[in-house]
Amino acid sequence: MKLKYKSNKSTSARKTILDKKNNENKLLKKLKYIVTVTQALAFIEAVFRTVKEPLIVLDENLRVIMANRSFYQKFKVYEEDTEGKLIYELGKNQWNIPKLKVLLESILPKNAYFDNFEVEHDFPLIGHKFMLLNARKFYQDGEHILLAIEDVTEQKQIEKEKDEFASLISHELKSPVTTISLYTQLLEVYFKNLNDEKRLNYADNILEQLHSLTNLINGLLNAGRIRARGFIFHEDWFNFDELMQRIIGDIQLGTNTHKIIKKGRAKIELYADKDRVAEVLINLILNAIKYSPNADKVIVKVAADKEQITVEVQDFGIGISKKNQNKVFERFFQMSGKKSGTFYGIGLGLDISAQIIHHHSGKIWIKSKEGKGSTFYFTLPIK
Ligand code: ADP
Repeated sequence: MKLKYKSNKSTSARKTILDKKNNENKLLKKLKYIVTVTQALAFIEAVFRTVKEPLIVLDENLRVIMANRSFYQKFKVYEEDTEGKLIYELGKNQWNIPKLKVLLESILPKNAYFDNFEVEHDFPLIGHKFMLLNARKFYQDGEHILLAIEDVTEQKQIEKEKDEFASLISHELKSPVTTISLYTQLLEVYFKNLNDEKRLNYADNILEQLHSLTNLINGLLNAGRIRARGFIFHEDWFNFDELMQRIIGDIQLGTNTHKIIKKGRAKIELYADKDRVAEVLINLILNAIKYSPNADKVIVKVAADKEQITVEVQDFGIGISKKNQNKVFERFFQMSGKKSGTFYGIGLGLDISAQIIHHHSGKIWIKSKEGKGSTFYFTLPIK
């Protein structure tokens, strides 16, 4: 600002006026600064109080200077019980979390901030939660820590359910795929015996596709971070002999190479998952046919006492070496494949069968001699 002074005024008077103006300007600047800072602080405070995420400011001794409304609402604590308190003492010591302690006392002193630190904790007042912690250090009359807490429990739960769903679906899909594959292998044997190359090719193609499908299912299963859980079982009463009769009849219809000889009866009603038990029987009988290409019979024996049903499926085929006898129940274990000119399965049938039998508290095992044949046994307790 330009000032004009009358020439007749003394130099000292002019100086006094100039000094006064200078002081006024300085004061004005200071005031503007204060107004700006105050406005900025008011703005920051408004943000702090408004954001939905719980925020808390700690001093260098980890005592709470202030917290926002979301913090009080989320953690069910009151201002008067919070401000001035050590963070670990808040709300029935619910923040006394070892992982947080390490974070605040060891990691933060060496770093200016940390981001997205996940804490899983049982909070006495709000229950089991997953929290993402973000912290920043800042200086204002000493060191302070701004801690932002995001509750990601719901997202975690959704993620978990998604994983479980994928895992369940893929697990459940394996079962029908295995049965389709077994029947297709049976068709292969059938067409091979008829020297029907064309249809044998069709069956081959189906099996190729089933292989891709199995790989896909397995990829899905492995992608799920949650371990695959077991099958879903629906247990009810059913007549074991009727089930056995139906399965043997169905399989016999599809094979002209082997006679399935049934010996013995259980003569009981069993409380179990009928479809799953059927799966085991189908797996064992179809394997017996598949792995005995030069034989003409499979023997199925059934016996029962007061405690359990015992089933034996005996074939006169290629047999299994001692070394491999335990491994056959492992997932994807296969001793032979199409390339070695023998059989072409997907290596899931016995793994699934063992899971089903174990679920019913039964046992499954094998006796076999290479070149002579194998007998698969399983028991099912009578409840
Ligand atoms: P897949 O038959 O689809 O390969 P399984 O889980 O049913 O899968 O069987 C695993 C492996 O155990 C087979 O690849 C085969 O080598 C062997 N196996 C199963 N049953 C018999 C059997 N009755 N005789 C000889 N080997 C068998």
